[in-house]
Amino acid sequence: MLYQTLVDIYEKLNATSKRLEKTSILSAFLKNLQDNDVEQVILLLQGIVFPIWDERRLGIADKLVIHAINIATGKSPEFIEQKWKELGDIGDVSANCVQKKTQATLFSNELTLSKVFTNMQQLVSFTGEGTVDKKTALVAELLTNATSSQAKYIARTALGDLRIGLGDGTLRDSIVWACFSQQIGLVYNQAENDVKLDEEQRKKYNEYTNLVQSAYDKTTDFSLVLEKARKGEEALKKITITPGLPLNVMLYQKAQNIADAFATVGQPASIEYKYDGFRLQIHKIKEKILLFTRRLENVTSQFPDISKEAKLAINATNAILEAEIVGYDISSGKYLPFQNISMRIQRKHDIESTAAKYPVHIILFDLLYLDGRDCTVLHYHDRTELLAGICAQSKTFYLAQKIITSDEKEAAEFYNKSLLNGNEGVMMKNLSSPYQPGSRVGYGVKVKSVMDALDVVIVGAEWGEGKRSKWLSSFVIACKNKDEYPAIGRVGTGFKEKAEEGTAFAEMTELLKPHIKPQEGREVQIKPAIVIEVHYEEIQQSPSTAAGYALRFPRFVRLRPDRRPEDASTLAEIQKLFTQQRGRTKNI
Ligand code: AMP
Repeated sequence: MLYQTLVDIYEKLNATSKRLEKTSILSAFLKNLQDNDVEQVILLLQGIVFPIWDERRLGIADKLVIHAINIATGKSPEFIEQKWKELGDIGDVSANCVQKKTQATLFSNELTLSKVFTNMQQLVSFTGEGTVDKKTALVAELLTNATSSQAKYIARTALGDLRIGLGDGTLRDSIVWACFSQQIGLVYNQAENDVKLDEEQRKKYNEYTNLVQSAYDKTTDFSLVLEKARKGEEALKKITITPGLPLNVMLYQKAQNIADAFATVGQPASIEYKYDGFRLQIHKIKEKILLFTRRLENVTSQFPDISKEAKLAINATNAILEAEIVGYDISSGKYLPFQNISMRIQRKHDIESTAAKYPVHIILFDLLYLDGRDCTVLHYHDRTELLAGICAQSKTFYLAQKIITSDEKEAAEFYNKSLLNGNEGVMMKNLSSPYQPGSRVGYGVKVKSVMDALDVVIVGAEWGEGKRSKWLSSFVIACKNKDEYPAIGRVGTGFKEKAEEGTAFAEMTELLKPHIKPQEGREVQIKPAIVIEVHYEEIQQSPSTAAGYALRFPRFVRLRPDRRPEDASTLAEIQKLFTQQRGRTKNI
């Protein structure tokens, strides 16, 4: 397949903001793909060349791409930098420079999809001296043979920011449309931008959507899902949990208090300590251990200590376990707040010494797969029994503390005990529920000491004034609603002036800089990428925010590098909290 065919799709997707139209464009394209193009196309549509859970990342710097544009087009670095300032996006700069190539290329070879894909993948294969030059040459080679529009997407793919507005939801729906529209009787009316479905068709549509979503949640691999869906419903249904492929984790709803929690999960319930660390999927495949965060990042290299423990402690050939990883203070043995180990997640150097300095406990709370058996379909009670049976507990590797009770008083005592032990609260879980990957279904709820905490995404900010002019401040925060991130206000307090005191404005600015959208003036928009936890006093209805709600007195508490923007608190949750809060006030 020619790369241009994919570029045409990028451009078409970019040209419309209508989700149904995007779905229609993409589904027609996916339907007619050759089998051997599926994997590369699906990855490149997501702007990546390695699956999300692969340890390999392109990690290409702006400078390298600028140099490659210089080699490919003969434009001077100064000219390219100037254009970058004007246009704000290196993809657009690349397109602009290629349009005006000054070095005549005698033999322009038309780029194929696999040539682009292979060159991109090769970018990670070099180490040692000359690495930067070799990488630059690979990107330059592509740009030399590219048309203007191809150059735009080559640069953006190298930098890992495609900017075509394609979310997971649209990709999933496109697979449903591409493979099952006949079964559903689905026809897209472009003039009206609508699909008309009667009740029966709607039911079928939902069934197929759930089927595709469930296959994705079990494997987080859209290439695999499309490959099977193209073969038909039966092939798709056979997709199952596979050690090595991280699953989308089950999420827990928030309960107001213990009575509310019992009302959701039933009585008796299992009540576990809610440890304040980060969630980890531990995959054991014979002698190999793979570790994934809930963002599906492969962090195996960062935690050799966990792999070592897991190999010794898990008595199974193949298994997938879930654990909370908590840092502890070496001298006092006490748990440390999440921030203290969060830096281990991104660590690339000095891994062993950091592991020794910031040791962790591995606290297991679920079992999702065991020696050929998909355990997610089992009841919580059976899963945790099996888990206890296969794990040799040690000082650092153990099962979450829990009780099973129907009694509110006993539950409240356990909750207090959990807080006294330095935890965040408790998790309350329905004893006979399955594990549903990827959803927040209410099979378990969290009861936290701080009720009014939300995970929000930063989508904008303001450059400061005077001595703060190098820093971003007054961050616009947003919740998640389907594929969108509507704002729920601004947060400016809780950040520190100096790094020694905690998360400082300077650190926030560095984190956010790569995600700033090109813009004039002090006010900037920011691509949803960074998740933070905020506390607040109250939720108010507000006509002036995109979400229709605003937080009163929001305060930054901590960064959440273990969360993706998709994991942020949802608009529906905020609506629920708003009504619960009104209920609370009424009762007083
Ligand atoms: P929250 O981070 O407030 O959304 O609460 C859910 C998170 O609590 C999970 O994603 C886990 O990382 C963490 N957690 C801590 N202890 C447990 C436990 N016993 N069971 C399940 N999740 C836990």
